[in-house]
Amino acid sequence: MITNGEIASLLGELAALTALAEGSNQSFRVRAYERAARTAEAMAEPLAAMAERDIAAIRGFGKGTARMIAELVETGSITRLERLREAFPPEFVELTRIPGVGPKTALALREHLRIEGVADLQEALARGAVREVPGLGVKSEENLSRAISRLGIGGKERRTPIADAVRVARGITAALGSVEGVTRAEAMGSLRRFRESVGDIDVLVVSDGDPGAVVDRFVSLPVVREVVAYGARTSAILSSAGIQVDVRVVRPDQLGAASVYFTGSKAHNVALRQRALDRGWSLNEYALTEQATGRVIASASEEDVYRALGLAWIPPELREDTGELELAERGALPDLAAEEDLRGDLHVHTDMSGDGREPLEAMLAGAAARRYEYVAITDHGEDLVINGVSRDELAAQRAAIDRLRAVHAGMTVLQGCELNIAPDGSIDYDAQFLSGLDWGVASVHSHFDLDRRRQTDRIATAMHDPAVNVIGHLTGRRIGRRPGIDLDVDAVLAAAEESGCAIEINCHLDRLDAPASLLRRARGSGVVFLISTDAHDTRELGNMCWGIRAARRGWVERDRIANTWPAERFLAWAAAKRS
Ligand SMILES: [Zn+2]
Ligand SMILES: [Zn+2]
Repeated sequence: MITNGEIASLLGELAALTALAEGSNQSFRVRAYERAARTAEAMAEPLAAMAERDIAAIRGFGKGTARMIAELVETGSITRLERLREAFPPEFVELTRIPGVGPKTALALREHLRIEGVADLQEALARGAVREVPGLGVKSEENLSRAISRLGIGGKERRTPIADAVRVARGITAALGSVEGVTRAEAMGSLRRFRESVGDIDVLVVSDGDPGAVVDRFVSLPVVREVVAYGARTSAILSSAGIQVDVRVVRPDQLGAASVYFTGSKAHNVALRQRALDRGWSLNEYALTEQATGRVIASASEEDVYRALGLAWIPPELREDTGELELAERGALPDLAAEEDLRGDLHVHTDMSGDGREPLEAMLAGAAARRYEYVAITDHGEDLVINGVSRDELAAQRAAIDRLRAVHAGMTVLQGCELNIAPDGSIDYDAQFLSGLDWGVASVHSHFDLDRRRQTDRIATAMHDPAVNVIGHLTGRRIGRRPGIDLDVDAVLAAAEESGCAIEINCHLDRLDAPASLLRRARGSGVVFLISTDAHDTRELGNMCWGIRAARRGWVERDRIANTWPAERFLAWAAAKRS
């Protein structure tokens, strides 16, 4: 039975391809498919078991999407989607990941220069042909060339941003997890290590039943564009989004060795194998074995494998052979945070922000359901075009928050604001007005292309403003789509330490900002971090799981994440910055 995750992922693809067909991301149909994808993903009840009529009655679906879901459940595919896939292959879709190339530009490039992918575009740029396309010019040629090289796309090795890879992997693991005999289906490789982009997806399936049933289900999933390899326990497909997915089926007693092997990284595994060899053992995807006798030393769990090699279990996010093995040997790995350690969310929007989707009441109820001790409501400051809120609106919100505090007595509700950092480092409103708020996130939402010195000064100035507790999504990047602003990282970290301003780890999978490389660089400093969801609806409050993994990948210890602190410590720290 097709899962809600798979349905959501196909509706998401339908939205992206429809945007290309219609030459706009904003058309009615595109928005309807996006909303349907979000609704499908959030639903607990399986859509595949519901009648079309009942699906159409759910808020978030329309008649048209209900019809398509029914078609998908009945036939395993959606005719409209199949047609769009033919018209817009993955290579062509990849063009729209380049900043400045929306659906309209991609279509113009195809129409006038027969450009079908990034490689074609690079070639056209090299011969100066792009300036001939209506709406583009010499300046666009320069911007496109720079964007392609900064994003590192169009090279030999295609990489997929983590947000897209997670979506594909979730659909597949949910489907394979429901096959009889399967006790576990999980993505390994760079996705499990939580890299920002992945070359392919490795899925490990544990089954004590028939491995053929898993493989057969896998190659017949609707997401399959082409079967690349087909075997008894392993097979590989190319997904409709153009990413390769490898699936391997193992027995329960092989889980530990297999997951170490398929999680990698290569360098980490080379070092592990060397430790095995030093002891007269060998390590492969089946087991850790004694070479002389073939006796199995460990295989069932990762902990067993690491322990036998004289190591503490190493979290996957650290497995890059950059010092983690030495620390694991001494029992000195960093004390990393888990999702249960988080006691609050400090960047939350309501529908008062133009881009927020749920009212204050719902967002606070969502935070309370997660048993938070504190939460900050941070709608957009007035300087943000379209989505910003006025002083009057904030005053009204303050009154509403005061009323709702009684409803959520166990949770401290802070009224904050997501302030916009102007090119000179100043922020919205004025000091007098800002002193009436309890909390301030400050973020860059404009002027992404200033030079390094100006961007660095801009952030440092904002950090020193008493109204600013934390810098939101520090670099403003969108992974695989928009590079971050150019910053002197060491100077920014020094300013954070000096000012006492925290740096956010934004949980959106297409942001994960500040990046792990910066987090790692802050190791040993006094910089404080916050993991916040920047949620625009209650479902996004659940994105904490991603921020936690980003923090782990950046080696950030639990105690340096301020929202793991008890309420008393946290609130005293927050107030101190504002005085
Ligand atoms: Zn923002
Ligand atoms: Zn925000």
